[in-house]
Amino acid sequence: MEYREFGKTGLKPSLLGFGCMRFPTKLNEEGNRVIDREEAEKMLDYAYKNGVTYFDTAYPYHGGESEVVLGNAMKKYDRSTFLVADKLPMWKLERTEDVRDTFFTQLKRLNMDYVDFYLLHALNRNTFQKAKDIKALEEVIKLKEEGFIKHIGFSFHDDYEIFEQIVNYYDNWEFCQIQYNYMDTDDQAGDKGRELCLDKGIPLVIMEPIKGGNLASFSPDVEEIFKNYDKDASIASWALRYVGSKEPVRVILSGMTTFEQVVDNINTFNNFKKLNDKEEKLVQEVKALIKSKVKIGCTGCEYCMPCPKGVKIPYNFSLWNNYSMYNNKNFKKNYQSMEESAKASACIKCGKCETLCPQHLKIRDNLVLVNEDLSK
Ligand code: SF4
Ligand code: SF4
Repeated sequence: MEYREFGKTGLKPSLLGFGCMRFPTKLNEEGNRVIDREEAEKMLDYAYKNGVTYFDTAYPYHGGESEVVLGNAMKKYDRSTFLVADKLPMWKLERTEDVRDTFFTQLKRLNMDYVDFYLLHALNRNTFQKAKDIKALEEVIKLKEEGFIKHIGFSFHDDYEIFEQIVNYYDNWEFCQIQYNYMDTDDQAGDKGRELCLDKGIPLVIMEPIKGGNLASFSPDVEEIFKNYDKDASIASWALRYVGSKEPVRVILSGMTTFEQVVDNINTFNNFKKLNDKEEKLVQEVKALIKSKVKIGCTGCEYCMPCPKGVKIPYNFSLWNNYSMYNNKNFKKNYQSMEESAKASACIKCGKCETLCPQHLKIRDNLVLVNEDLSK
């Protein structure tokens, strides 16, 4: 397992972090879907015994059960031998007092005395404003001074401009968590955000390195590029190695659902190797091939909305593009489970949307194709 210096914290967590948001689940006696605690603990044990020391959870994961399951599974180990990251659910808070109440609820769920890393969760334009309004960061700093939190950071989902504002708002961010993978280097914080953190000496924790599983398998023509180079390496391992080759990445979170995924990830991170120049080129080749499979150049601007019949035009196009690029049947399922009025098939070809589209897309003709591709 690779361990990396974590900024000014003096810590050296494992490069692979266990994301506790996608634990395996099962139906309980009441017919509710709950975490399969036995299987989840088996996975956590295997990860810990194979060198993973960073475990990431949050208030809403599995309806609060993730914190409980993590705390329960880890209580047999010496607390100083692993690190726990938990997050303050900014969208849920209304008053300054809510920060403290929420934090202690989380600590109780974890059954721990402190957390190593505490993040303002999912900062964006709105939640950042709220954090300022209710002085959330000030309260978190007090909890740190009281010894309940060791290190303070934030996780982020918005545009680079907001990211820059947040990074510059506080001089003592000890880390931050962003969404980053080889397909999304220009989205959200992206490469610009990564470089800003490098300049400022802020370590990065990465989420969605495999893009929610989309970079774990492709159509045969895409997979062939990777397999011709190394037939034994998993497709997901390329995405993880790509992210781990970028500075200042210090922890890569993987939300593991099966024991096999834990084993595969540990294999990738044991004797971790950054991509060499040739491998970086292969990833860029794959990225270009995936992008070439985009069906329609819809930017998601929504100028065409609302459609008088209720068709969710950009969402239909996004499912179509993603299905084509990632060869992932979930996008088809998402289409089929949409409300009938929102589906491409509900279009009556009035043409209103086409007069508003700055990309001059043939929306009507393409909606017909969307339905043909995704409805069966
Ligand atoms: S052409 Fe179809 S999608 Fe466009 S506005 Fe009319 S009904 Fe809606
Ligand atoms: S206006 Fe055109 S580019 Fe914008 S969301 Fe609608 S279809 Fe896509």
